[in-house]
Amino acid sequence: MTSRSPARHRRVGRVAVAVALAALAALAPAHAQTPMEVDCQITYAGDPQAIAACVRCVNVAAPNCLCAALPRLCGATGAKLTLSVTPELAGAKVEGARVSVVAGGATLERTTDASGDASFAIPLDPKAPPKVVVKSVALGQATKLPGLSFGKGSKTFVVALDRDVPVGAGEASKRLVVPLPSAKLSTTPLAYDRSSDAWRPVRARVEVFSGSALAFAFDAGPEARTLPMLVPPDKVGADYRVQGASIDGSKLRDTTSLRVPPPGATVFLTLHLADLLTQLERARVKLNAMLAQAYGPEVAARITQGVRFVLAEIPTPNYRAGVLSVPASYTLGFDAEAESVFHEWGHRVQDVLAGDFRASFSAGGRTDAPWAPDPDKDEWRAFDEGRADFYSQLFTAALRYPGDKAYNEEVAKPHVGKCATCPGYLASAMVAHYRDASLYRNALEIARDFRDVHDEGVRTLGHPPRTYAELVKAKESLVDRQLADKRITAERAAAIKKQLREVNERFKL
Ligand SMILES: [Zn+2]
Repeated sequence: MTSRSPARHRRVGRVAVAVALAALAALAPAHAQTPMEVDCQITYAGDPQAIAACVRCVNVAAPNCLCAALPRLCGATGAKLTLSVTPELAGAKVEGARVSVVAGGATLERTTDASGDASFAIPLDPKAPPKVVVKSVALGQATKLPGLSFGKGSKTFVVALDRDVPVGAGEASKRLVVPLPSAKLSTTPLAYDRSSDAWRPVRARVEVFSGSALAFAFDAGPEARTLPMLVPPDKVGADYRVQGASIDGSKLRDTTSLRVPPPGATVFLTLHLADLLTQLERARVKLNAMLAQAYGPEVAARITQGVRFVLAEIPTPNYRAGVLSVPASYTLGFDAEAESVFHEWGHRVQDVLAGDFRASFSAGGRTDAPWAPDPDKDEWRAFDEGRADFYSQLFTAALRYPGDKAYNEEVAKPHVGKCATCPGYLASAMVAHYRDASLYRNALEIARDFRDVHDEGVRTLGHPPRTYAELVKAKESLVDRQLADKRITAERAAAIKKQLREVNERFKL
């Protein structure tokens, strides 16, 4: 029986063609025997049952006709290859991982069980082993790993493998262990202890974010804890944002970042959990280090050292004359909190870099709604707030705080055409221009260019840009000047102007 299998396989192929042609044959006048019926005689010579089924089916344009008429002609013997795929992270079995396998052209997906195995039953012709490839393993919310959690809202990590599984003739089962690319993450949470003026080890909940999505979370401390860390190949060198919080009720926190190392490496993460004021002081140090590079130490000091923090029972932060008031309830661990603090700091930056007389509207404060048109359609006030929003995006992104996705083209889309005086909308247009990696390489370049545009405004308008339109005008004038001074190439000048025009067209500004 089995020795005839390959031949039968070929016959089915021919019959399939014959069935396809039957539709055409049906249009021709009936003969005693059509060419396709003759083909049946030749194909199944010596097998009257098969010839009868074949003849019946050549006049039916249904591909499964032959299988329905005589299952043994279909080539399927019912034999299956049992394939068991076991992904491992640094030697640990992974439950709840989604394994994707391509076998004989079909994609199959199974989830690993409590023993870490994903089992596949692949239809098998023993004489013609199928091509089997383990395509990928995906870890996400359903995945369980000792000490690690991929909680609600977790990002799904897909590790592409494309690993061929050699299947020998007559093989009925196959087991494959797939090591996932991993690094070691060694975490030490420290908390500031005022009484001893020292950092002491504590227990903490650590959440790791990729973009704005939670990637994974774990508990660490008081001793240093080393955990395997999945390294999707496309993530090497990327930065995760890390948020740590003490879990003893002391409400101490830290927000920092973690660069994804290559597989096999060890990365050390030290969290300095602290109260809000200490965190703000750390933010000051980070901002100062960035601005010193962008504008030099003196300007950076005026922007950062000149600000005094005050914790107050207020709903949102505000900035007035060197005093940055922050709600005492803040932790800086949430998107809106870090974004709001850096928005207010943005007003300070603007005052120092290119201060402007502000007419009838209050300086600072956060009474504006980012996605509502200014109540008086006041372009100046809307732009001033939008510019502070732009600084919040620049600083949260550069210093790896949450909240850096508050304003961009994606979130602005629903407001196109109806938000010309919405601060968030204007900020999104500025972000769309400055976050173009083909035009600006990093945050320092953006910070410097933004300052130069304001200086250009003072030079050509007599004051810093007061509306979005004036900002664009000043930017174009700056590009022309840089080109005339041969500080940029004609290509770059053209590219900047083109992109600026296109952004404004898309935003209808
Ligand atoms: Zn503001």
